[in-house]
Amino acid sequence: LAGADSLAFENSFAGLPSEFFTRLQPTPVPAPYLVGASPGAAALIGLDPADLARTEAVEAFSGNRILPGSQPLSAVYSGHQFGVWAGQLGDGRAILLGDVPARDAAPAGRLELQLKGAGLTPYSRMGDGRAVLRSSIREFLCSEAMAALGIPTSRALCVTGSDMPVRRETIETAAICTRMAPSWVRFGSFEHWFYNDRGQELKILADYVIDRFYPELAGESNRYQALLREVTRRTAELMAQWQSVGFMHGVMNTDNMSILGLTIDYGPFGFMEAFDARHICNHSDHAGRYAYHMQPKIGQWNCFALGQALLPLIGEVDDAQVALDAYGAVYSAKFEALMRAKLGLRTREEADAGLIDALYTLLQANHPDFTAFFRRLGGLKVEDPAADAPLRDMFIDRAGFDAWAVQYRERLRRENSDDAARRTAMDAVNPKYVLRNYLAQQAIEKAQTGDFSEVAQLLSVLERPFDEQPENERYADLPPDWANDLEVSCSS
Ligand code: AMP
Ligand code: MG
Ligand code: MG
Repeated sequence: LAGADSLAFENSFAGLPSEFFTRLQPTPVPAPYLVGASPGAAALIGLDPADLARTEAVEAFSGNRILPGSQPLSAVYSGHQFGVWAGQLGDGRAILLGDVPARDAAPAGRLELQLKGAGLTPYSRMGDGRAVLRSSIREFLCSEAMAALGIPTSRALCVTGSDMPVRRETIETAAICTRMAPSWVRFGSFEHWFYNDRGQELKILADYVIDRFYPELAGESNRYQALLREVTRRTAELMAQWQSVGFMHGVMNTDNMSILGLTIDYGPFGFMEAFDARHICNHSDHAGRYAYHMQPKIGQWNCFALGQALLPLIGEVDDAQVALDAYGAVYSAKFEALMRAKLGLRTREEADAGLIDALYTLLQANHPDFTAFFRRLGGLKVEDPAADAPLRDMFIDRAGFDAWAVQYRERLRRENSDDAARRTAMDAVNPKYVLRNYLAQQAIEKAQTGDFSEVAQLLSVLERPFDEQPENERYADLPPDWANDLEVSCSS
């Protein structure tokens, strides 16, 4: 046995009662080929990128061949979509292969492998069970980019493709993204049993999640309250992390919210470019429910939905409320800590919240590129305002910037900030390279002609988002004019 065939599969989720899933086989695709593989993700499960290039692996990760020990299944879940109860959803195009030993996957020490786009399932509803090359490349690149940014996320092992046509607005081709996470259980997995009045299954699922992923909570007097508290905490922190890098998920429905507080189900996501707090990255989100400035509130709304679903287990409404109450304070503390780091502040002052607010007001009025602004801010010299030109030039309201910079400099002086040390610290938290839509689009368009080199090249840049990469300077360029016409929607 070698490579993917040596993965030591267990099927922990398949050990749940059969109501939780349907066992099924992926639907094969004609003549699959490897589109991209992540060395970092592969290493987590002891594989080498070369292993993924082998025919046997391409066959396995396109769903054409079942790996030894894998018992494939699709899971059922429900959810609130755009704030409205949507009823039963489920893995409509994702097939779980099972879980394998993995690094950095405490406490279970295993990652579940899932094929997204592997064919029809009992939960496909009106869908075709497929994913297109375009959206699979986006999920692949963004999963790995987020991991490199240090943000909790599912991983992407590889993407395979096939020339099999798939109809969306136009005819595209099929692809399968192999995703990895310790668990794919969602808030909606709990809502499913709650709204179907199935208290026993609700308890089985909660106990499974606690025992396997939150063992430290198992001994608490109300372990279900503890679960809600912990998921609420992780979700609040995740929202702060998204905000801090300008990541917008685009479809924060409760079925896309991980019970582990991971970023999952990448679709019409975007990274903030010209700053606008009301920016909507998902062209299908007409009301802007999932706009940048809404994300923290929606994260909280989703926790309420989870709390509702867990209520029969928790018991008293007050106990659920206590668990949920922490959200605001956790979010604010995490966001402020991340923003302090982005500003290169080593100490904490009460007035920092005001400095941060003033900065957001300034960004909102001037729309500088979010990523480029923070990266450039790292080059500020405390005693040399004349050297601010590259920064000032990002603002229409130069006087507004100057006024904020006076406050910022005073703050830096109060902690005797050293220019060089601060720059190093800021460069380690303010990415130079993020997955801008136009960069993804360029890799996709090349891939659609059968040339996957840009997928690999872009991945390699995004694996080191904080490093200066002189040879890859162009990947930090602001979007070209044609990028204004890019629209990403739920079509995937
Ligand atoms: P999403 O908002 O993209 O996470 O998807 C919402 C629901 O639609 C989930 O249950 C998906 O599995 C399902 N779904 C999305 N696209 C497809 C498709 N092409 N075929 C079948 N099910 C799909
Ligand atoms: Mg989803
Ligand atoms: Mg999806």
